[in-house]
Amino acid sequence: MINRDPEVPLYDATGFKAPARFWRGLLRTDVGSSQGFDPEDVQHERRLVLYRLLLPIMFSATMVVVIEGVLITPRPLFLNVFAGLVTLLLAATAYAFFRHDKVLIPPVLALLATLITVVWSIKLGSSYQELWIFLLMIAMAALLPTAAALAGGATILAALFWAHGWQGFGEGLALDAAIFSTWLLSLAMMQLQARQTDELADLALTDPLTGAYNRRYLLPQTRRHLADYHRYARLSSLLLIDIDYFKRINDEMGHVEGDRVLKAMVALIDGRIRGADMLFRLGGEEFVVLLSEVGAQTARKIADELRSKIASQEVIPGRRVTVSIGVCDVTTVDSAEDWLLSVDRAMYEAKRKGRDQVYIKEPSPRDPTNVEGTIPMWR
Ligand code: GH3
Ligand code: MG
Ligand code: MG
Repeated sequence: MINRDPEVPLYDATGFKAPARFWRGLLRTDVGSSQGFDPEDVQHERRLVLYRLLLPIMFSATMVVVIEGVLITPRPLFLNVFAGLVTLLLAATAYAFFRHDKVLIPPVLALLATLITVVWSIKLGSSYQELWIFLLMIAMAALLPTAAALAGGATILAALFWAHGWQGFGEGLALDAAIFSTWLLSLAMMQLQARQTDELADLALTDPLTGAYNRRYLLPQTRRHLADYHRYARLSSLLLIDIDYFKRINDEMGHVEGDRVLKAMVALIDGRIRGADMLFRLGGEEFVVLLSEVGAQTARKIADELRSKIASQEVIPGRRVTVSIGVCDVTTVDSAEDWLLSVDRAMYEAKRKGRDQVYIKEPSPRDPTNVEGTIPMWR
């Protein structure tokens, strides 16, 4: 999700489109490591993994327990109260999810309560042989593409209906219908959530013209990299890239051509930076690249490579389009705001010195790390 392709959603909230990423999210333990992951994203994904499986399972389990307990095989009042409690815990879970806080306790409690209810009911003689089927269907809904999940679920249910029809149990059919409807509901809920989360994340964090991240995402990312430096002595650098005399391009060739140049610029920069780096459009014709695990010397080389690559590309046929780049590494600044201001000043220094060049704010002599030489420049 770092080199943004505007066609690929930023978040895949349910794992419908990316089962592999779903499992990685579940198993990943390297939160905050040097791999360029955004630790908050990883945690967020873990929560989603938890909820996209547990919430529908618990919801369906509660429905089945209540339907079975009230309508089909009436059982003692306390068991129904217990099922009601599970439903309440579900509500608490949903609430905690939306607050993104203390999310583990309610689902674990609710799952335990569901299990106790089910085991107890079986001891008292209710039949729960079909429970595994709806667990299977929920897993399918969570992990498979929608069409495959629907086809699989429909096949399982057809088999169930056929089996019950053969034996002629009316209650069995009612229970199957309950399972099927809760399953469909889970599927629909997850679909909706996936779409909304994708759309919202895309709208909130990316620039519609170029597909690069937008300014809104820049400040939290720079803050995180600054914190990583203070906590782990992990280096990073900012580049601020400003197109030279862009106004002339607009004035002489029109805004449509100007927009095309902006998109071409993003494609050029994006094609050159590593997966762990992030590209932002700050506004107008200014772009910021956040380079992870890169100190001042390497950042300068990267900036210079980008600068000469852009100048030699003929983004507009027959016309030289150049950029001025400011470079500032994390060792020289005290705050994210300070960092952005410093890299802006460095960029203006490059402009002042004649454009089509790189200006670097000298790294701090008090930099305690000396890890630069060990990090490869490109992937
Ligand atoms: P220099 O940076 O070299 O000093 O000169 P410049 O001409 O690039 O300077 P300036 O930053 O003043 O110009 C930026 C221009 O970018 C002004 C505005 O018309 C144009 N611009 C801003 N946003 C967009 C956009 O979304 N599309 C297009 N086509 N142009 C834009
Ligand atoms: Mg400019
Ligand atoms: Mg500008």
